[in-house]
Amino acid sequence: MAMSIDVNLPRSHPARFPDRCVVCGRDGPQSHARIVTGTLGWWTWVLWWWGGPFMVKAPACPGCAWKLQGKRGASVLVTILLAALALFLVWPWFKDTVPPVLRRWAMMGLALACILPQIVIEVLYARPFDVTAFADSVDYEFTSHLYAAEFAVLNMDAAWVKIDGDDVSG
Ligand SMILES: [Zn+2]
Repeated sequence: MAMSIDVNLPRSHPARFPDRCVVCGRDGPQSHARIVTGTLGWWTWVLWWWGGPFMVKAPACPGCAWKLQGKRGASVLVTILLAALALFLVWPWFKDTVPPVLRRWAMMGLALACILPQIVIEVLYARPFDVTAFADSVDYEFTSHLYAAEFAVLNMDAAWVKIDGDDVSG
């Protein structure tokens, strides 16, 4: 089980990373993993909303970068498949039993119920590094406490640095 530590920085702040692979921790990985995130995640389905993309380049060995991006891609695909399954295969069976005013909410609830197992698995078995972009801030999520701490220190000049919600920049 690997719960991640979230370091939150302003979205406008260009994040600096320690010169170590975000996946395996090796020094001087010489390459980067390009992590592009929309607001594509389970909250996208809850809020029915898609924000602008956010890109971050994190140091990673070539092999680790591939693994990380492959897992992210697979996860997005699984989310889309599960939600599509819920809305196209399961929903038609319930549709007529739900009053029209509640249909939008029922659809969201159904989609969420179908992707819930995936959300639980992803929280318990977090990827070594991930990003979640919000309107004006970004969560950088690390499973390595040490890496998260080094990252936070390197970015102390940002308008704020929050670790798991606590502002530590003061
Ligand atoms: Zn690596």
